[in-house]
Amino acid sequence: MSDPRTFVIVGGGLAGAKAAETLRTEGFEGRLALIGAEAELPYERPPLSKSYLAGESTLAEARVHDRSFYDEHDVELVAGAATTLDVPSREVGLADGTRIGYDRLLIATGAVPRRPPIDGADLDGVRVLRTVADADALREVIRRRGRLAVIGAGWIGSEVAATARSQGADVALIEHADTPLQHVLGPQLGAFFADLHRGHGVRMAMGATVTRIEAGPRVVLADGSAIDADALGLGVGVAPATALAQAAGLHVEDGVVADAQLRTSADGVFAAGDVASVFHPRYARHVRVEHWANAADQGAAAARSMLDRGEAYTKVPYFFSDQYDLGMEYFGLHARGDRLVVRGDLAEACFRAYWIGPDGTITAGMHANDWDAGDPIRQLVERRAPAEALDATEPQAGRRPSVTPRSRSCTRCCCAGHTTSWRAGATRSPTSRRASSGTSRPRRPTTPSSRSSPSSRRSAARAGSRRGRTSSSCSRRA
Ligand SMILES: Cc1cc2nc3c(=O)[nH]c(=O)nc-3n(C[C@H](O)[C@H](O)[C@H](O)COP(=O)(O)OP(=O)(O)OC[C@H]3O[C@@H](n4cnc5c(N)ncnc54)[C@H](O)[C@@H]3O)c2cc1C
Repeated sequence: MSDPRTFVIVGGGLAGAKAAETLRTEGFEGRLALIGAEAELPYERPPLSKSYLAGESTLAEARVHDRSFYDEHDVELVAGAATTLDVPSREVGLADGTRIGYDRLLIATGAVPRRPPIDGADLDGVRVLRTVADADALREVIRRRGRLAVIGAGWIGSEVAATARSQGADVALIEHADTPLQHVLGPQLGAFFADLHRGHGVRMAMGATVTRIEAGPRVVLADGSAIDADALGLGVGVAPATALAQAAGLHVEDGVVADAQLRTSADGVFAAGDVASVFHPRYARHVRVEHWANAADQGAAAARSMLDRGEAYTKVPYFFSDQYDLGMEYFGLHARGDRLVVRGDLAEACFRAYWIGPDGTITAGMHANDWDAGDPIRQLVERRAPAEALDATEPQAGRRPSVTPRSRSCTRCCCAGHTTSWRAGATRSPTSRRASSGTSRPRRPTTPSSRSSPSSRRSAARAGSRRGRTSSSCSRRA
């Protein structure tokens, strides 16, 4: 090896694996160690609440890379949790006494699910969902079409409920707010998601306060009612896995604090993914994002910074979710008080939504089941377009949302079979459909063509096949 340096990555998730990949593709020839606490090769988590949970895809399909990738690229996979980080001597330690010195270090330790301070939250049968082992436990109840209660109707809780219900389980969704996803999307779109779940037969306990969990498990609510289940899923959010960084004296504040090039407060130490609170020039503040595209993109960006080829990380946040036949994508970052504008038809589950900030510009946008909408929405958000731009770009401009459900793009995309392997019942790679994030996945296909333009990847999505999905909101309408 011509490069005498050692680069170490702590955290074998998506961000860590993408960083390793990028270091090699960018030509790093030194020693490269990837330390991972899980027994598995790095894998992607979105399928854990979707196709994998439904029993319709495998762990192998979720892997970021096959084992051969790490062998061929000389990436040393070190099994175990890093327990110590000695910044002055530039050394990482594992519980078994192994010490690895580093020249550059990436912290990509992700996040850990929160457990609410409720009596019984740690009982047997009460599961969080972060790892494949967690998914396996819930999957078993779903396979038996048992009774599943889910506390927390955020993204993961909502997806688990949708997947379990789609597979025939008896599902109760319990949420403190009045609707699912209220804290992220607000009450109007929250009500839309509440209707979506109700329409699929999920028992909805909204505005509910859980007082305790009893063996069974049984969820006891403040109004005196109780929900009995065979298993209970907790989806009440995650906390950044900062213990290692904190103990090492790094600046930690809702995540490992990093500058725009993902450099932490310690020399030679970088951070990426769910654990990183990164200064974002666009928002002029630190932002921590707990989503797939951010982990992939920041992993790659951190690798370039480690090689002194870094640039400010300026990507607009992006995330997606799949629930039943509904797929959505969101771009940007809106604040609580931003004004919501909906174009399309909520009742038809085919719409675009935009948030307008106090200065009149579009701060964020999302679509549901409208697969041509991703790129235009992203562009509007990226260029901070004024709200008036919606009238110029929206096919439904100037009309009442409720009378314009038949958006050309909705009809076309939904009828042409867009789908994703991360969604219950689907068969194919999500590579193309998630094109709008601007982030491509290297795994399927593994050739450079997978980094093709968003539109070509989306075309590939449309050409894909569907399995076990006979209708979607848009196609029903068409
Ligand atoms: C069930 C589920 C569904 C999701 N669905 C979506 C979705 O639909 N859309 C979306 O945009 N995002 C989704 N996400 C979020 C997305 O998966 C995460 O943002 C992404 O996994 C973050 O990647 P990461 O590499 O930063 O962290 P992680 O994936 O958490 O990986 C971190 C890894 O580091 C390891 N680690 C931690 N501490 C140490 C240590 N001290 N030593 C060694 N290893 C350590 C952990 O064990 C873990 O394997 C989902 C997440 C989950 C859990």
